[in-house]
Amino acid sequence: MNKKTKKLPDGKGHFNGYGGRFVPETLMPALIELEQAYKKCKKDKEFLSELELLQKTYIGRPTPLYFARRLTENLGGAKIYLKREDLCHTGAHKINNALAQALLAKKMGKTRLIAETGAGQHGVATATGAALVGLECEIYMGSEDMRRQSMNVFRMRLLGAKVTEVTTGSKTLKDAISESLRDWTTNVRNTHYILGTVFGPHPYPEMVRDFQSVIGQEARRQILKAEKKLPDCLIACVGGGSNSIGLFYAFLQNNIRMIGVEAGGKGIESGLHAARFAGGSLGVFQGCKSYLLQDDDGNVLTTHSVSAGLDYASVGPEHCYLRDLNRIEYTYATDDEAMKAFELLSRTEGIIPALESAHAIAETVKIAPAMPKDAVIIVNLSGRGDKDVQEVARIKGITL
Ligand SMILES: *Cc1c(COP(=O)(O)O)cnc(C)c1O
Repeated sequence: MNKKTKKLPDGKGHFNGYGGRFVPETLMPALIELEQAYKKCKKDKEFLSELELLQKTYIGRPTPLYFARRLTENLGGAKIYLKREDLCHTGAHKINNALAQALLAKKMGKTRLIAETGAGQHGVATATGAALVGLECEIYMGSEDMRRQSMNVFRMRLLGAKVTEVTTGSKTLKDAISESLRDWTTNVRNTHYILGTVFGPHPYPEMVRDFQSVIGQEARRQILKAEKKLPDCLIACVGGGSNSIGLFYAFLQNNIRMIGVEAGGKGIESGLHAARFAGGSLGVFQGCKSYLLQDDDGNVLTTHSVSAGLDYASVGPEHCYLRDLNRIEYTYATDDEAMKAFELLSRTEGIIPALESAHAIAETVKIAPAMPKDAVIIVNLSGRGDKDVQEVARIKGITL
């Protein structure tokens, strides 16, 4: 930590006024139990070595830090490295958190895991973690999302999870989160709720950050080995904010430019986006105080992005804090820019990125050409694009 970035959150989960624990009384015991269990496990050698072994033998860590030579040549500026989270088991960084929380739940003596999912990626990661440690699993998913992501619904069921349809509200992710919180309130004795990003009530933003920070710890070692120096710039996409903070956290004390890229959708003026910093304001949503897309009466707005993983109305509280400090810059990429970046990386490197990660590539396309050739950028490739191929074909009007 440098002088400016304090070690946060404080004991109540605040990142300088953001975050906190805005939940009904009935949920407080569960959150306090979780917080205490997490504090204990963080220092428990047995837990940590079990997690490390699974990271290595099951997830496939450390993931490579890959020098993207042809993309670098194509853009003609800074050297671009990709942190290959797309090579994690199940195809994205989400398993880093889901598996660690599954292990924690097992240690706490819980017999059942629940989670919410939008596109299904976090649901699949949770169902995977549950199968691995041998716990019962139920996933809440909006009926609209279930229809759009039928393949992931089937995947979760194959992994032994029960997928429960949520038919309230907009029938999407935020309604599934509300349903999960309700379930947890009722079944807290035997159930652990695996939240999928650095959001929600304390201790989730801190705990998920810690579980994802393995990304940056590895990247730091890897770039020092490859380039004999630290990078000049880090870039990652920001949905809830877990893959980005996961990469950035180990570099926060260094003087390195960091850029978080939100979903610009069809442009900020169109209102069809999920750029909370560019178009949102401060509010309380799903247990947490943070930037939020809301109308003048505080109603949460519907969001839009070509990538389901970035399509959320709020953002992790620690990001608000780091933005206030000017420690991290936040920008956005539009659907069109992400689509172009998706095709560019596929053609130049033979890597089809997740549409979420394509937002980070889109920002790289904008800034790398003007940087000197000895400058180094690390881009977090948060996931692989297999899940998006069909959607991209549909948008391009191609019948498969
Ligand atoms: C879910 C997801 C994201 C967005 O979530 P963060 O918490 O912001 O990381 C980004 N990329 C991929 C591949 C995802 O599945």
